[in-house]
Amino acid sequence: MEINKVTATRALMIAVLVLLTSLTTISFADDDSANGVKLDQALTVKIWDSGTSGSGFNPPPVNVSRAPQAATINVSYNPATCDNQGNLSPWPAEAQTAFTFALNIWGSLIESDVPIEVHACWEDFNDARLLGYARATGSYRDFTGAPQAGTWYPNALANALAGTDLDPTSADIITALNADDINWYFGIDGNPGFSQHDFVTVVLHEVGHGIGFAGSAQVGTLPGQTQTIGRWGFGSGFPIIYDTFVVDGSGNSVLNESIYPNSSPQLAALFQSNNLFFAGPNVQAANGNASARLYAPSPWEGGSSFSHFDLATFSGTINSLMTPSLSNGVANHSPGPVGAALLEDLGWVSPGDDPVTETPTATATATETAIPTETQTAVPTETSTLVPTETQSATAEPTSESTPVSTATATAMATATANPSETTTPQPTGTGTPVPTNTPAHTSTPDLPTSQDSLIFLPYISR
Ligand SMILES: [Zn+2]
Repeated sequence: MEINKVTATRALMIAVLVLLTSLTTISFADDDSANGVKLDQALTVKIWDSGTSGSGFNPPPVNVSRAPQAATINVSYNPATCDNQGNLSPWPAEAQTAFTFALNIWGSLIESDVPIEVHACWEDFNDARLLGYARATGSYRDFTGAPQAGTWYPNALANALAGTDLDPTSADIITALNADDINWYFGIDGNPGFSQHDFVTVVLHEVGHGIGFAGSAQVGTLPGQTQTIGRWGFGSGFPIIYDTFVVDGSGNSVLNESIYPNSSPQLAALFQSNNLFFAGPNVQAANGNASARLYAPSPWEGGSSFSHFDLATFSGTINSLMTPSLSNGVANHSPGPVGAALLEDLGWVSPGDDPVTETPTATATATETAIPTETQTAVPTETSTLVPTETQSATAEPTSESTPVSTATATAMATATANPSETTTPQPTGTGTPVPTNTPAHTSTPDLPTSQDSLIFLPYISR
């Protein structure tokens, strides 16, 4: 208990410190109108070692070697854009092979005519529990083809929606992986040893953040003030597309400023309420007609809170890829139906989907119900998606029936940049149980994984 308390206090202090020390001038570049407005900023999000062990494999939703690449994802290893040049080591060849494999999984699940450029850093974190981190290098809003006005779209998604590279000179995603301290498994078969962390899983997770699985929520204290506030939009006044789908337990959008003024203590409390949900229509359709609970612990965990699926809800399920920590001994090579649906809500189109019905338009409102297309079979509830075994008791209980109300208005304020050296300490609290998995044969459908054939129980363990 004492350890948790100290850790929690420390995490909060660090979060505040990061906000305090990283205030800087936001850089807006008013490009021509067709290219919209650029924001060179995004939050860095992380994945942690859960501190526990498990076993099991959630396989890719496609046959990676056969599935066509609907998006080209290129990678540069240790480019000059890496955050901590002094801490870089040469990339091991086997790590590169695994990295490429993970990119090919994503490349078969999302469509883009614009190659996605990933900068990958092999970095000594001096932190044995941080597996990796990632961020979009920036976002665009109000570009030609933007589905929703006044809303940031992370670079890779903005490019895909625009159908052109809005900024050919920049990478779209930066990610760093822990070059020491981690007993990595670099194989691509999802069979890590009991004490190993599956590298493909972590890369898949990080690139998931880079293509849009990340919000803009922050909690901290502004210079000269003592009050802890929450805010969204990086001080720009505009939300990022992910934010527009996040609601409280009653279905109120986090962007509803009549309830939660931006840069307010109320918003700070909300962001730490363990009562946040992603209410996109595709997510709801994939999650038993319920919104998906997000990770929103108290105190705030910079780099983890808001931008992950909830651990307690999704650990041990096929949708656990985008939870904030990973056990050793397990491998997850699929975003799961809910994770894939979230990306569709953001605006990604999956191969085979009808772009007319699948491309989101306007705002996510209560009247915008998800309608599965012929290629999207209904997603069973957790009782049918899980393959429980004798020892596992993980649950995946969707709890919110809320609906999103997107109202993007905001106030401007000073802005905090992402700080990749932030070292929020994770708190081990989980007691996961290793579970052998039973892997059904998978068909070669290139669509996002919404059918029974890829369903499998995966014991991701809560920390
Ligand atoms: Zn993460």
